[in-house]
Amino acid sequence: MDCLFCKIANGEIPSNFIYEDESVVAFRDINPQAPQHILIVPRKHIASINAFEVDDKDLAAHILVDVVPKLAKDLKIDESGYRVVINTGDEGGQTVHHLHVHLLGGRSMQWPPG
Ligand code: AMP
Ligand code: ZN
Repeated sequence: MDCLFCKIANGEIPSNFIYEDESVVAFRDINPQAPQHILIVPRKHIASINAFEVDDKDLAAHILVDVVPKLAKDLKIDESGYRVVINTGDEGGQTVHHLHVHLLGGRSMQWPPG
């Protein structure tokens, strides 16, 4: 499958992972929207939230329960605050069709988002 984030996750396209484990990789967004802008990407190709399967529950929980708080702490944005975003589909602003979690911090966020 010709998928950018599959290629990054499997090393076909070189990247500097700030975190990796058996199920996810995390790296800096190429076009950062905040001083800290990390993408957390499952190694498994999942197109979007819509494509989650029952077997993905542990993976989804792992990202939110383990990886996001760990990275927020490592990046020292856990106390100041941060935003976690999963853009989904065209109107959700998804441009890469391999599920990824944006972790944004280091500045004040606005609401509503644009
Ligand atoms: P989304 O619009 O939610 O699908 O997010 C895709 C994100 O991937 C955007 O924020 C892009 O800046 C980012 N991106 C695209 N290509 C790369 C790349 N080669 N390395 C890191 N981030 C990328
Ligand atoms: Zn993929």
